[in-house]
Amino acid sequence: MGGKSDNGGTSGKTVVVLGGGLSGLSAARCLLELGYGVSLVEKRPFLGGRAYSFHSREVEMEVDNGQHVFMGCCTYYVDFIKALGAYGDASLQESLSTEVVRDGKSCKLASSPRLGRLHLIPSFILYPHIGFLDKLSVAYGLLRVRLTNRRKRAAQLDGESFYDWLRGHHQSERAIENFWNLIVLPTLNDDIRNVNADMALMVVQEGFLKGPDDSTIGFARVGLSSIAGVPGQRFIEDRGGAMLLGKAVRAIRLDGDSVESVELTDGSILRADAYISALPFDVLLESLPPEQAKEPFFAAAAGLSSAPIVGVHLWYDRPVMEQEFVAFLGSPIQWVFNRSRIQGDNGSPGQYVCISLSGAWDFIDRPKDDLRDLFTQEMRRLFPAARDAVVEKSLVIKQPEATFRCMPGVAAHRPSQATPIPNLFVAGDWTDTDWPSTMEGAVRSGVYAAEALASRV
Ligand SMILES: Cc1cc2nc3c(=O)[nH]c(=O)nc-3n(C[C@H](O)[C@H](O)[C@H](O)COP(=O)(O)OP(=O)(O)OC[C@H]3O[C@@H](n4cnc5c(N)ncnc54)[C@H](O)[C@@H]3O)c2cc1C
Repeated sequence: MGGKSDNGGTSGKTVVVLGGGLSGLSAARCLLELGYGVSLVEKRPFLGGRAYSFHSREVEMEVDNGQHVFMGCCTYYVDFIKALGAYGDASLQESLSTEVVRDGKSCKLASSPRLGRLHLIPSFILYPHIGFLDKLSVAYGLLRVRLTNRRKRAAQLDGESFYDWLRGHHQSERAIENFWNLIVLPTLNDDIRNVNADMALMVVQEGFLKGPDDSTIGFARVGLSSIAGVPGQRFIEDRGGAMLLGKAVRAIRLDGDSVESVELTDGSILRADAYISALPFDVLLESLPPEQAKEPFFAAAAGLSSAPIVGVHLWYDRPVMEQEFVAFLGSPIQWVFNRSRIQGDNGSPGQYVCISLSGAWDFIDRPKDDLRDLFTQEMRRLFPAARDAVVEKSLVIKQPEATFRCMPGVAAHRPSQATPIPNLFVAGDWTDTDWPSTMEGAVRSGVYAAEALASRV
């Protein structure tokens, strides 16, 4: 494809979106709704980026690259899958309810929706994994979280670790391990010592202290590609957008101050009125002309780094758990999801479970067989029904660069969606969205990039 594409939409203006993860899909959706003509370029032959499912030859079925969870507060993500017509394939709890187990002692962390903002208090009073004095200090800590104006103190909070913030607010090691980390590890995919206070406060404020509807937990009941990648492609093509799958961006070329074209690795050239890069940060930096990549606005992204997630998928010959998902404290198993129940009973007598390991540095380099053995053993210890059950199939999926890290100082490395180049915009969960590395952050970045573009082009 050479020259300027002619699918100018109702505005007569064209945009090329680079990258078909959730941020690129979200940007493309908004641009099409705003009347732009859109072409989307994606390196892989399918869309969805870091949230996709694939057919595994090893286990002969479709599996997700990793268990993905969203919450009621993820309003842009929910709106996005609704627009794609895929919301019916997701489920969101009516009110938060999750079991948390430690040393054989189990409790339900559940909302009391009638209490409004105080919906978690009854459950918190009964929470058995911290003692009475720790409860008093956690209640004080939660109050301080609630009263903190993040915007006013953004720089200070961004520069401080959440662990230090908690210690400075009288939280004991036990309260940090058995309460705060239960929230932080899965949402920020990192050790509580390594995340900045600003992003952690944001998660606690938005996800747990706003209202019962914001705290609910949701997930796809179908493969991840069926909830975003496939309906996303349909949405774009049905509205006249052009889809260039299996085509990689090699270079973003500038003429003077503006982007003149994008060169793909097959040598083809794309031209448009404007461009949204929804590429990973390192790929964007490699694609820009070196002198632009060195500009502080873009170069700052080189300071971002990634955190791993490991998924251990086990297929048992019989049911081993009843719940849809359970969280564990004091066990290498952090969260285990009952995929058979989530996806609906397929008539099989067995059960498929997925163990999701966040901040998985201890596991990412270990041989897959070791991980399968370790977690099969641990499942036996934690679930009596797993003791006699046979693991018929297993699969370990390692995602070394699952999310970008929200370490102290990260804000300086996250650019706004409008760049100093007038016709180039950036999207991606790693851009400045005020959200951590999540589907919600990715979708928001796409919306913000499209809005910034519409105000300029
Ligand atoms: C295992 C795992 C579990 C997760 N769990 C959760 C969860 O529970 N909840 C949650 O909210 N989030 C979760 N996340 C994070 C979430 O998936 C990401 O935040 C989100 O998908 C990022 O979307 P993105 O569009 O910003 O980036 P990406 O998905 O990385 O999109 C970038 C796209 O650019 C493409 N690309 C790269 N190079 C080129 C090139 N040269 N030319 C063209 N295209 C290119 C890539 O193929 C990709 O499609 C998880 C991620 C992983 C990996």
